[in-house]
Amino acid sequence: MDRFEPNLRIPGPTALPPSVRVAGGRQMINHRGPEFAAMLERILTGMRPYFGTSAGDIAMISTAGSGGLEAAIVNVLSPGDRVLGVSIGSFGDRFAKIAGVYGADVTKLDAEWGYAAAAEEVRERLRGMDDVRAVLLTHNETSTGVMNPIAELAAAIHEERPDALILVDSVSGLGAVPFEMDAWGVDVVVTGSQKAWMAAPGLAMIAASPRAWSAMESATMPRFYLDLRAHRDAAKDGQTPFTPAIAVVYQVDEGLRLMAEEGTDATFARHEACAAAARAGLDALGFELFADPRHASRTVTAAHVPEGLDWKAFNAEVKRRGVVLAGGQGKLTGKIFRLGHLGSVTVEEILGAMSTLEIVSLQQGRPVEPGAAVGAAQRAALASMGIAALPVGAGA
Ligand SMILES: *Cc1c(COP(=O)(O)O)cnc(C)c1O
Repeated sequence: MDRFEPNLRIPGPTALPPSVRVAGGRQMINHRGPEFAAMLERILTGMRPYFGTSAGDIAMISTAGSGGLEAAIVNVLSPGDRVLGVSIGSFGDRFAKIAGVYGADVTKLDAEWGYAAAAEEVRERLRGMDDVRAVLLTHNETSTGVMNPIAELAAAIHEERPDALILVDSVSGLGAVPFEMDAWGVDVVVTGSQKAWMAAPGLAMIAASPRAWSAMESATMPRFYLDLRAHRDAAKDGQTPFTPAIAVVYQVDEGLRLMAEEGTDATFARHEACAAAARAGLDALGFELFADPRHASRTVTAAHVPEGLDWKAFNAEVKRRGVVLAGGQGKLTGKIFRLGHLGSVTVEEILGAMSTLEIVSLQQGRPVEPGAAVGAAQRAALASMGIAALPVGAGA
């Protein structure tokens, strides 16, 4: 055992609150019994406000988030369908790749990494396509720390191609930031237990609009385990079609209870404050932020590894002191690092991480002012929380 709990600042899996860990250790139950049925009902109902849907049914499948993305594709599409895969990073690439593997005719629209997708470009590309069955979007691109303006993109897609289904990967966004599936006219949304939901990996939750549920009746891509209709039908009887990851189901149930106790708006505000702190702190440390500030993610912040910094040595020391950061993915390996702030994260944990980054910077000869990053992060968090920093000496 380590001497202390690490400050797990990767964008998933996220740290488990104590009661969630206890929940995961509970005895197994009959997954065909009333206790499981009640739990499944609580989860599917409790998730609705986060998806922003009252019209669409939600399915819970035991799989990684990518299995959820695969479910989104195979349930509503047929081989040969024309699909626009809008990618702003490696998860957008993955979503498009899955569609291609199953025989969709995929056109890619790639934004420069670090930037969100532009509604005008999506519109233009859609105009140039003969026929469009679906558009794939990433809500929060975890590889670059960019959050797409889904409402705006969806509006452009509806105007240009009203018949196109809109499928959204919100694995690392949902639960942490507002999402309005019904209001925005999104057809399928995917999330995963190990991100904002404060549970272990193993469950994907997928919501589908009435239009998407009816598309499933004529879609011909092969599917068995991932057939959402089987999951929906079983859920009506309080069950899953196959044995679920019960320990993770316990955890998601408890995570949702904690989120309800905190309140949806407070959960979103906490993520916003943590994101503001992370950005201000890293900036004050001299780490150039990677994402376009207009679309910076509220769940993960990416920064450039500075020229001349021995990242391996730096990160090893950061980790030894208890802070776990994520490196870059794909073509960004070695070029950026990422700090996750989603799930059970607190502002104080972000301040702690900034303190560690200051200490290690000084240890390794990077010139930083002790306390500057912590102070900048704290001020940004206070501003986000609407707490005034009174001038010292003022007040009572
Ligand atoms: C984590 C993540 C996924 C899914 O990851 P798995 O490893 O398959 O669980 C998909 N998309 C995004 C944006 C993610 O952050």
